[in-house]
Formats: sequence, C-alpha cells, structure tokens
Amino acid sequence: MDLSAFSLAGRTILVTGANTGIGQGIAVAAARAGATVLGVARSSLDETSERVAAVGGRLVPVACDLAAPGAAVAMLERAWAEHGPIDGLVNNAGIIRRADAAEHSEADWDAVLELNLKTVFLLSQAFGKRLLAAGRAGRIVNIASLLSVQGGIRVAAYTASKHGVAGLTKLLANEWAGRGINVNAIAPGYVESNNTEALRADPERSAAILARIPAGRWGAPSDIGDAAVFLLAPASAYVHGTIIPVDGGWLAR
Ligand code: NAP
Repeated sequence: MDLSAFSLAGRTILVTGANTGIGQGIAVAAARAGATVLGVARSSLDETSERVAAVGGRLVPVACDLAAPGAAVAMLERAWAEHGPIDGLVNNAGIIRRADAAEHSEADWDAVLELNLKTVFLLSQAFGKRLLAAGRAGRIVNIASLLSVQGGIRVAAYTASKHGVAGLTKLLANEWAGRGINVNAIAPGYVESNNTEALRADPERSAAILARIPAGRWGAPSDIGDAAVFLLAPASAYVHGTIIPVDGGWLAR
C-alpha cells in the first residue's frame, strides 16, 4: 500500500473547536499526518498547540466565537486571506443541551441549531464557494453523531441538529462531488470529552452505555482524529456523502 495516500503533507486544514476534545484529537492527528492546522476556538489553544508541537506539527491559532452573528464566515474569509489556500474544513464545534422534550427551552433549541447546523452550513458554503471559484479540490468533514441516525433522549435540539448535519453532508456531496470537493461526516460513538461529562458522571448511565459498546471502552478523541485524517487524505478520493460511524461497534449492536 502507498502510505503517502494517507499523508496530509502540504495541506492546510481548518478545524473548528480545536481547543479540546474531539477537535483537539483531530488537530493533533492532522498535524501528525503533515498538515498545517488552523485551529479555531473561542478558548485558549495553548494545550492543543503543545500537543501538536509534541508530534512535530504546526498549529496556527484562529480566535473566533462561532456563535457571534456573522463571525464564522468572517473568520473563514480572514483565515483564507492570511493563511490560505485552505484544503480541508472540519466542522467539529458543537454544543449539547440536555432537558426533557417537554421542558426544552426555545433559547436552547436556537443555540444548538445555530451552532451545530446553521454554522456548519455557512462555513461549508463559504469554503465551497472559494474552492469552486478557484477550481481547487477540497475536503469537508462534518462531525455528526450517533444521534444523526438514532433518536437519543433528553437532547431534542441536538438530535435534530445532527440529523440535519447528516442530510446536509449528503446534499453538499451530491452538488460538489463532481467538482473535486469531497464532503463526508464522522459519527462518533461515546467519546470521553466535555460533551459527555454529564453522562460519565452518572454511574447508572455510564455503566449502561459501556455495557452496550462492543469494543468495551469509551472512544478517545484520537480515534476520531485518525478517521478524520482518512477523510482529509488522498486515500478517500472516491468517498463522498457518507457518514462513517467510529463508535466501537455501537450501531452494529
Ligand atoms: P467538547 O469537548 O464540548 O467540544 C466542543 C467544542 O466546540 C469545544 O472546542 C468548544 O469550545 C467548541 N465550541 C462550542 N461553542 C463554540 C462557539 N460558540 N465558538 C467556538 N467554539 C465553540 O465536546 P466534543 O465531544 O469534543 O464535541 C466535538 C463535536 O463532536 C461536537 O460537534 C459534538 O456534537 C460531537 N460529538 C461528540 C460525541 C462525544 O461522545 N463526545 C459524540 C458524537 C458527536 P469551548 O471549549 O470554548 O466551549
């Protein structure tokens, strides 16, 4: 096998929410594969910078609160002008709000849908426009969820947003696959990050989840990072519009 098909040498990859969790895992994996990583975050990127440096890579911090009106697209335009051209966009930043459906507030619904779905669309649109105008190839990797295909519980807005991400991934692939842009998604299983802190802190839920994972362990951000490298690299040239579960076998059960 030609291992260079899995290299990101010479590529510039923008990762949202790169300061922690899955985004940090993707940033480190992409850097290890040779990419220059543009790490987007509203919080300090120091820890990610250290981890990227430890694998011999380079991280360029890009400060942005993606929830501020107009900020996401302005950030992408700025990042392209200052550090571009950009070869890959990883839409990772996301939030979750837990409440019974009967009590789920409209404000939480709006916040989750804005960041998890609308921002994913707007960033993909701005990135895709740039690539199409320049006639450049590119990659988009969206971070979906098991709740892109399952219903979940007490996370109505999150489930709606992640089903939306799955649909959007397929739509963008249909429009852009023939024009050199691969759009795919990863559906992480239960990964140890801030997102799942509440679940892991609940002994009953935590034990029930673990018992159902065929791999017998929670996922690590690096598990998702390695899958993202595949979707960003030449090896996945013919992969379009798919949502790859990286879930320790959860969906197979
Ligand atoms: P996390 O540790 O909570 O990370 C979420 C990331 O999004 C953080 O970097 C966070 O920044 C960033 N973010 C949130 N709001 C933002 C904003 N307004 N502007 C800029 N960045 C913002 O959880 P995670 O598990 O790594 O989540 C990453 C993605 O994976 C999400 O899309 C999530 O839905 C998805 N996912 C996670 C799991 C899991 O089991 N963990 C499973 C399926 C899917 P701050 O640190 O500053 O808040």
